[in-house]
Amino acid sequence: MYKTKAYAAASATAPLASTTIPRRDPTEHDVQIEILFCGICHSDLHAVRNEWSEFMATTYPIVPGHEILGRVTKAGVAVTKFTPGDLAAVGCLVDSDRTCPRCQAGQENFCPNLTLTFNSPDKHLGGITNGGYSESIVVDERFVLHVPPNLGLAGAAPLLCAGITTYSPMRHWGITTGKKVGVVGLGGLGHMAVKFAHALGAHVVVFTTSPSKKEGALRLGADEVVVSRNADEMKKHAGSFDFILDAVSAEHDINTYLNLLAIDGNLTLVGAPAKPLGVSAFALLMGRRSLSGSNIGGLPETQEMLDFCGAHNITADVEVIPIQKINEAYDRLLKSEVKYRFSIDMASL
Ligand code: NAP
Ligand code: ZN
Repeated sequence: MYKTKAYAAASATAPLASTTIPRRDPTEHDVQIEILFCGICHSDLHAVRNEWSEFMATTYPIVPGHEILGRVTKAGVAVTKFTPGDLAAVGCLVDSDRTCPRCQAGQENFCPNLTLTFNSPDKHLGGITNGGYSESIVVDERFVLHVPPNLGLAGAAPLLCAGITTYSPMRHWGITTGKKVGVVGLGGLGHMAVKFAHALGAHVVVFTTSPSKKEGALRLGADEVVVSRNADEMKKHAGSFDFILDAVSAEHDINTYLNLLAIDGNLTLVGAPAKPLGVSAFALLMGRRSLSGSNIGGLPETQEMLDFCGAHNITADVEVIPIQKINEAYDRLLKSEVKYRFSIDMASL
């Protein structure tokens, strides 16, 4: 075991503050990674403030962070995929049971015994796992991804959650040229969704509550932008979408968006508001529409997504901050004021 610097929250109402945490010494299949950048996901904020207490209560102190990009500093004797000096990335998962049908299908994200990067029981050290707001991390190489060398590092970090969470449902629902795709909420996830849908050849319409994001959305690859509070603009799109990805972090009316789906259209929720959302039966049954959800992605698909980003030169648009600005960043995230992802420069730690 060794000690490493980190930022943690001591309670749901405490600000994040500097601390020291233990990490295991790398075992034979582990790599030790010096963290260079870590993205700030809204899930970090939900967890720190214990907003998902009914579903996934937070154990304190919590070190969040699951958009981890760094460099390998040590590799265990049985490690085959990495050598010291390699770029390496870790997302929301650091372990799973590896034997269930989901794991065998490469869908570790649906394993009933998965270990999340933070706030999951730590099989090695006891207590709970500590995430990426930290100087270093030790992870089994099976849960570590390769990063294409052409990608900027600060902007590549958010691919590990915002990237895979939006890429996976688009692949699942067959987004391709000729499809009309809506993206609701232009935050960290939403802006990645726009980039992927555009790269896959879809006609992309962004729905935002922030008029100030209109021009930015077009630059990201949107074909149209609708300010969702404008009922007339919304009406123009009624019954027309093949697929809508909803990446909103707070309670909102999803029926408005269900009504924009074409017959057999699908709305996939990736946003995870704490409270249940009301669904109108008629919004679904009038067009044989479907409502579904999606949760990050498995390891093979995460590597596929990173390679796709390498081939298409896709990274997140980030505002790089020092870790000391973390609490201010959380306040701005809550006000939808980031374009479009914070990435922490871990050298500041
Ligand atoms: P984010 O950067 O804060 O983006 C959320 C966006 O939602 C905001 O930028 C805003 O977009 C919109 N929004 C916020 N409050 C709203 C409100 N009251 N009404 C309508 N729209 C509102 O968050 P994120 O990191 O992208 O995460 C989004 C959600 O996905 C979070 O709940 C997060 O926990 C969840 N998540 C899920 C997964 C998964 O695997 N399913 C993975 C990661 C994150 P506009 O300004 O454009 O309106
Ligand atoms: Zn996340």
